[in-house]
Amino acid sequence: MLGTASEARLQDLKTQPRLEIRNLVRHYEGRVVVDDVSLTILPGQVTCLLGPSGCGKSTTLRMIAGVEMQDSGEIWVDGKLVCDTHYRVPPERRGIGLMFQDFALFPHLSVADNVAFGLRGASREEKRARVESLLERVDLLRHIDGYPHELSGGEQQRVALARALAPRPRIMLMDEPFSGLDNRLRDGIRDETLGVLKDEDTAVLLVTHEPDEAMRMADEIALMRAGKIVQQGAPYNVYNRPVDRAAVSFFSDANVLQAEVTGALAETAFGQFLAPGVADGTMVDIVFRPQHVRIDFDRGGNGPRPTETDGVAARGVVKRSRFMGHESLVEFVMDFDGSVLKATVPNVFLPKPGKVMWLTVPRDRCFVFPAAA
Ligand code: ATP
Repeated sequence: MLGTASEARLQDLKTQPRLEIRNLVRHYEGRVVVDDVSLTILPGQVTCLLGPSGCGKSTTLRMIAGVEMQDSGEIWVDGKLVCDTHYRVPPERRGIGLMFQDFALFPHLSVADNVAFGLRGASREEKRARVESLLERVDLLRHIDGYPHELSGGEQQRVALARALAPRPRIMLMDEPFSGLDNRLRDGIRDETLGVLKDEDTAVLLVTHEPDEAMRMADEIALMRAGKIVQQGAPYNVYNRPVDRAAVSFFSDANVLQAEVTGALAETAFGQFLAPGVADGTMVDIVFRPQHVRIDFDRGGNGPRPTETDGVAARGVVKRSRFMGHESLVEFVMDFDGSVLKATVPNVFLPKPGKVMWLTVPRDRCFVFPAAA
């Protein structure tokens, strides 16, 4: 059993950031593409850098890897500076593993030799033991003497993972590592990869433009837009407490009502919405996801009925409905302004175009933001 001091030291190691980047900035051709990005990742933690194409995710990753220099800012690994504008530890001495979408296995080397490639300084026996244990972990031990061309895309991906993990990197940087795989394989390989990385206590920074992937993989999501991290937190919080309208839309379809605020209230055809702290005369966007629209099935064609939590029902006419697999998507043209509002309903619900229905919007599922320009 560990003594108190040792336990405390162990705890420190767990809570000391494995990777810390401070105020990274990078310009290309006079344009800022990474704009004051800071991040902290603990051992065993998976952080997803999530954002649209071109927002600066890969550039951030390349600077951390050391293959590209920042214009300003610092990179720290295990509490030690590895790079600032005056000092630079070369990429191969940063203890960082890399895994990219276009991973390339060496075609002329066996699976075992591919995995052993980065294991310098170890004895033959040590190398063999490490390679076997990793291949077992990614369920490919039977292919240890095979060659890359004999493997499927998913199997090759798992060899690449084993190869990246072989030198026991303290940090793993992954850039869209699963996007080359077909959907059926992807989920299994993601889960497998996550399991191996967690077992090794590796700190992971994974770049993706797919919200589903980030929600599935991340302990923390850092939402990036135009070079900046606009929101950071656990997937639940980023999804349910978005910072702005664009953050809602990045994860799902969003309905938007616009209204002017008077007396901290925004008046709409769905009734009033609270807009605390918003000055009179300010326009706001009231944003809500299709899955949170409620259809008042009992109402039929009758008039609106105010409720405590859902405000007032508004009348819409079905434009079209589509079955999406586990839910149905219904689009309504709303009477009050002719706008289209989307609602999703679990299972099969396919009302005919022209059908009149009454809709409500639960207040606890709405976000009120100053109107987007
Ligand atoms: P994607 O998901 O498409 O890879 P990203 O978020 O990773 O996008 P980056 O690859 O980091 O974005 O690129 C950020 C911006 O910097 C883009 O506008 C890109 O065109 C630009 N950029 C990247 N590398 C260079 C370069 N070497 N020279 C000039 N501009 C570059």
